[in-house]
Amino acid sequence: MKYLFDKWESLQRKIRNKYLFIFLDYDGTLTPIVETPQKAVISKETKDLLRVLARAPRCKIAVISGRSLRDIKKKVGLKKIIFVGNHGLEIEGRKIKHVNMLSLRYRSLLRKIKRDLEKNLACVKGVILEDKGLSFTVHYRLVESGDIPKVKSIFKEATELLSLKNKIKAKTGKMIFEVSPPLEWNKGKAALWLLARHKFSSKEKMILPIYIGDDRTDEDAFKVLNRNGITVFVGSPRSSHAEYYLKDTKEVNRFIKKTIDLLAEKPCQN
Ligand SMILES: [Mg+2]
Repeated sequence: MKYLFDKWESLQRKIRNKYLFIFLDYDGTLTPIVETPQKAVISKETKDLLRVLARAPRCKIAVISGRSLRDIKKKVGLKKIIFVGNHGLEIEGRKIKHVNMLSLRYRSLLRKIKRDLEKNLACVKGVILEDKGLSFTVHYRLVESGDIPKVKSIFKEATELLSLKNKIKAKTGKMIFEVSPPLEWNKGKAALWLLARHKFSSKEKMILPIYIGDDRTDEDAFKVLNRNGITVFVGSPRSSHAEYYLKDTKEVNRFIKKTIDLLAEKPCQN
């Protein structure tokens, strides 16, 4: 992986004069990872930058998150942005409203697993269960380290068999477990869907996708976009399908700022 700002000269050339479609993850990308999901509030600086970026010509932004659509819309609180919730199962923007209909079929099964987990995890202090409608997340960041194996085994017991039978999808992330419908749909497919849709409706030919994210679920998007787009991992460099990395959310802001400056230049200088 290359440090993005080391390659800024060549990236600048790539970005200049293109129409950009920028995909941004939320937690760990636009806001630092914090103790509880509610505490991940977007800073004024980041929000202002996004507002300017959203108004820039030759640019479209999508915030793409594992949170529910309702939650992510509220957290960002800006217009002119496309919101993608539940890792792509729900999408909303100007003239876009999409819910993966297949995912609705799994709601009652997911609800039942969640209820069972709530009961079985009640004895462990610090566990937070986040209901996201089409999926749910078990957060264990606040659990004492000695209790974490217990959380893991209770989760495994509740999900392993159903997951093997492909009745649900059970995933792990940064101090979280997630249960979602077993669909071949992820952040990468959602990003490709949005790109194709935009290409078709705008007749824009030179769209350059840029995807920035920090977690495992972003790898699906890095994989499908790293050939024709700019893929950026946020965090200490590690093995990833992303081509570049930025060290933290502050550097993501710096990148957004530089991109705003590039977009403000008059097109077709070369
Ligand atoms: Mg993230």
